Order: sequence, then C-alpha cells, then structure tokens
Amino acid sequence: MFTTANPTGRGFDGSTGDGILLAEKTGAQTVDMEAIQLIPLRGGRLLNYVGGDIFVDSSGKRFVDESKGVKAIGEAYLNLPDRVFWVITDSQSQKSLDLDAKLLSGTVRMADSVAEMAKKMHVSPKVLQETLDRYNKFAELGEDKDFGKKIFTQKIDKPPFYFGREQFDIHYSCGGLKINKKCQVIGKESKPIPNLYAVGEVTGGIHGRDRLGGDSLIS
Ligand SMILES: Cc1cc2nc3c(=O)[nH]c(=O)nc-3n(C[C@H](O)[C@H](O)[C@H](O)COP(=O)(O)OP(=O)(O)OC[C@H]3O[C@@H](n4cnc5c(N)ncnc54)[C@H](O)[C@@H]3O)c2cc1C
Repeated sequence: MFTTANPTGRGFDGSTGDGILLAEKTGAQTVDMEAIQLIPLRGGRLLNYVGGDIFVDSSGKRFVDESKGVKAIGEAYLNLPDRVFWVITDSQSQKSLDLDAKLLSGTVRMADSVAEMAKKMHVSPKVLQETLDRYNKFAELGEDKDFGKKIFTQKIDKPPFYFGREQFDIHYSCGGLKINKKCQVIGKESKPIPNLYAVGEVTGGIHGRDRLGGDSLIS
C-alpha cells in the first residue's frame, strides 16, 4: 500500500517512523501502534457528500453502507479478496471540482448505459443492472435493506454514468509515542523521559483507533 504523502510511490516520503524509532531507543513507550487511518483519496470518488454514489466490488455488487465513515469503509475494503472497488454516480449528482482532471487522466470514465459501464469495468452487465435496480428501490424507499444506509439524495439512473476505480492509501498513523499533557514522552515505569518532548504525528493516544479529522493542520 502507498501513503497519501507519496501516492505513486515514486516521490519522497518522509513518513518513515524514524522519530518513533529514535525515541524508542531512549526507552519511550508507544501506544495504539496498530491503528492506521486509510482514506480513499485519488481514485474514482467525485462527490464531497453522501447519498449520490454507490461503491461496488469487482463482481459489480455493493459491499458497504457508503455513508459510513472511512474507518468502516476501509475495513470493508480490506475484507474484499482482491481489494478492487468502483465508485458509480450519474448525471444528477453535484460533482467535485476535480471532475475534469479525473476525466482527462482516465481515473473517472463515462458511459451512456449500464451495459457500456459494465463492459468497461469488466463486470457482468446483468449483475451491475441488478445492483443498480436494487439500490434505486432502496433510494425510493429511503431504506437500504442490505447495508442499512439511510442517506439518499437521488437514484442512480440518469445517464451518462460516471465511474472510476478507487483505492485506499495509508493516510495517518494514529499510534505513536506515549506522551502526557505536557507533551513529555513517557518511558519505562510510566515516567517522563527527561528533556524529551513530542508533538504531531509521531505521538499516539490522542485519536484512539480513528483519527480526529483535520486536527493536524489548520485545514
Ligand atoms: C496528502 C495529505 C493531506 C493532508 N491533509 C490534511 C488536512 O487537510 N488537515 C490536517 O489536519 N491534516 C492533514 N494531513 C495530515 C498532516 O499533514 C500530518 O499529520 C502533519 O503534517 C504531521 O506533521 P508532523 O510535523 O508531525 O510530521 P511531518 O509533517 O511528517 O514532519 C516530519 C518531518 O521529519 C522528516 N524526517 C523523517 N525522517 C527523518 C530523519 N531520519 N531525519 C531527519 N528528518 C526526518 C520528514 O522529512 C518531515 O519533514 C494530510 C496529510 C497528507 C499526507
């Protein structure tokens, strides 16, 4: 998996954990080291709101309540055997500003019919049509009988359809060095290590298992 600091794997990535390793050598304790935030940032997603798109797996079936937070969606993604998922919306939704760039780069594509979209996604047209028909019934009812989604802004039934493959990248390490309220790094016997302070992503324990969004920079 790549990190969002270096999404193509070709650039420089400073997210190396060196700060944690250095402090550990002085006896620092760590906390929540297994808690990593994954986000879908650079693929087929076009909407900055919930209710106008669906996510389907490589067989053309939905696999999650798309209105959930990134933690729940990320966990569902990790359970997909091939970790392939597609985002689908249609002409009615309010696209984000990067629509043109994503269309130009081919990250997002368009199709005039469900059959054409299925062909381009290499999924069964029958399965994809059934997925959309079922979802559109749920949108009409306001109730998702498969995954419990409750937020619907539209049906997905007006061509052209917009679709793109999405993926999760590693975005944030929620775990890190154990600190106290004075940002002193905690060492063995749970005592502060003299003159060692830590702030930022090198620290852990602030977020629990899911990051408090937007708190690292003034967004
Ligand atoms: C694409 C992207 C978008 C983001 N958007 C937001 C946002 O909108 N809002 C928000 O709040 N947060 C956002 N974040 C998260 C936020 O940017 C980081 O959590 C924050 O910058 C961490 O700051 P830091 O000073 O702790 O660490 P860093 O900014 O990672 O600084 C660590 C520094 O140490 C250097 N370094 C590493 N190893 C060594 C070594 N061995 N020797 C010397 N130097 C070393 C690195 O090069 C780096 O300069 C985003 C992150 C990414 C990747």
